[in-house]
Amino acid sequence: MITHPSPNHGPRRAAQVDMLVLHYTAIDGPASLARLCDPAAEVSAHYLIEEDGTIFALVAESERAWHAGLSSWQGGHDVNSRSVGIELVNSGSAPFSEPQIDALLALGRDILSRHPIPPENVVGHSDVAPTRKRDPGPLFPWARLAAAGIGRWPFPDPADLPEPAVLAAYGYDVTDLPAAIHAFRMHFRPIGIA
Ligand SMILES: [Zn+2]
Repeated sequence: MITHPSPNHGPRRAAQVDMLVLHYTAIDGPASLARLCDPAAEVSAHYLIEEDGTIFALVAESERAWHAGLSSWQGGHDVNSRSVGIELVNSGSAPFSEPQIDALLALGRDILSRHPIPPENVVGHSDVAPTRKRDPGPLFPWARLAAAGIGRWPFPDPADLPEPAVLAAYGYDVTDLPAAIHAFRMHFRPIGIA
């Protein structure tokens, strides 16, 4: 792990960290690192993982990094205050590399050992910002993470498309129901989703 401090952070406004939020950068590694450390960009994450598995530690887990933006989960809107954020270098249209996922599994288990993060609170950016975001996308290997003890898979309701109340009870903001359904499908029903 390479420590590469970003100035883009502030104090947490939550009693504890109980979420892990996963992203893809959509831009290449050097550009991602530069952007996540650029004060003018006003974005960051706690960690950035390159395609070769190199992990950059950008913001201390004790601090609030700026990755989720306008977001909602289980009725709470300050996702940044209660989460650890990980950015994965990925274009959004290519599979995630093996070394990168191996690094994520090790880092994820490490994070879960330090914070009380329940499986349903391991989410993608699209899950907490369904009207704005589609990362980490339908190619992200959620089932593989869950098999390694990180996150929940499959969705507890086996219905192909659970009722809105079930999605809301799980955590989704269903105010924009089509957006919430699309986010749910990318995470839990990715076959055929683009
Ligand atoms: Zn994101």
